[in-house]
Amino acid sequence: MLQWVLASGNAGKLREFNRLFAPHGIEWVPQGQLGVSEAEEPHCTFLENALAKARHASQVTGLPALADDSGLCVPALQGAPGVLSARYATRFGLEKTDANNNTALLRALEHETRREAFFVCALVWVVHAQDPTPVVAQAFWQGHILRQAQGQGGFGYDPLFWVAEHQHTAASMPSALKNQCSHRAQATAVLLHALAQRLAWPALPGSHTLHTP
Ligand code: IMP
Repeated sequence: MLQWVLASGNAGKLREFNRLFAPHGIEWVPQGQLGVSEAEEPHCTFLENALAKARHASQVTGLPALADDSGLCVPALQGAPGVLSARYATRFGLEKTDANNNTALLRALEHETRREAFFVCALVWVVHAQDPTPVVAQAFWQGHILRQAQGQGGFGYDPLFWVAEHQHTAASMPSALKNQCSHRAQATAVLLHALAQRLAWPALPGSHTLHTP
């Protein structure tokens, strides 16, 4: 098993990534276990924030690192919570917790009938902090925001995110189903493809072989 750093302290993301990458012989160690503090996320795009997080984790640990910058975008709210998804509640004077973020979202959409939303996941993998050719992937997952939470699984905005195709919220569907169709699952599939090509290129440092299931 290869062990690489996950540039995140989010337990929900760690759980999902370890399930998604296990068949490929990769185990993710959360950055907090290696003494890495949270990086600044000052940018207005998910991709730039993911790059900043991956570089930071790799810089501190000296290891290859993967960062996920993800969030929920609601067109009726001009794209909010967007890159502020993890701390959306703070805009309403609340502490940043998943429960408060969901309360804040329901409040913002209280009088809104347009409830379309999408999750986005930007992934960036670097072999070292100054890596000039990071491996990147970005994917989306479409749904609607309910008026009431439903389901106990997942994390973040999952209990409010209704996926009509499966007649479940992201929190009420089996975790195996979320790991097949989510923004993170789709971005991971793209990343794995690009990573396999990158790692097969022997001239680059960090040339490991990926196991195919
Ligand atoms: P980040 O850690 O700065 O990328 O913030 C990610 C935030 O977006 C999380 O704290 C959640 O609020 C939200 N988010 C991202 N992915 C998901 C998901 O799969 N389900 C629910 N919420 C998510």
